[in-house]
Amino acid sequence: MLEYLFNPLKFIPNEYETTIYDIDFKRLYDEGKRLIISDLDNTLISYREKMPTKELLEFKQNLKDMGFEIVICSNNHKKRVKSFCEAFGVPCVWSAHKPFVGGLRKALKKARKAYGINYTKDMVVEIGDQLLTDQFASTRYKLYTIMVRNLDPKTEIWTTRFNRRLENKILKRIKRKYPDLYEEKLSRYVGEKIAR
Ligand SMILES: [Mg+2]
Repeated sequence: MLEYLFNPLKFIPNEYETTIYDIDFKRLYDEGKRLIISDLDNTLISYREKMPTKELLEFKQNLKDMGFEIVICSNNHKKRVKSFCEAFGVPCVWSAHKPFVGGLRKALKKARKAYGINYTKDMVVEIGDQLLTDQFASTRYKLYTIMVRNLDPKTEIWTTRFNRRLENKILKRIKRKYPDLYEEKLSRYVGEKIAR
């Protein structure tokens, strides 16, 4: 069980991009992706912000025009997640308890209901800024995962800072055991993390 939990392969995202705005959604659409399950804090907005930014609203409109829909899956509490998602105009799951997969399952269900499309897992792209919660949950739930850099590391709460310490350990382990995969999927993330 422990070996399974700490299998470093479960922490490797399919792609890494610095921000959500750098992701090649055109290609993802061509590959059959239609639904985005996104984390909220430090992926779409920082902890300092409460509402979607103008840039984010434009981003959502562009995605809609392309043929994507969005659902938010966040570990944060109801009040913050719900008020953000009402303003953003997308369905959401709060208190998702990632790295457990229940929140993602719920998000997929909510998206099917809200958009009237029977999304399958292979149509989903998951986006998040944490290896230990977002990526770990999503790879186990067998979703295509994209890791982004956290928007504002100074605002991370204590649980996240604790997770980041573990994350560093896991990153080292991946580098040691799977140097090629590390180079391909994670070295840019680590480089940008150290650089700031
Ligand atoms: Mg986050």
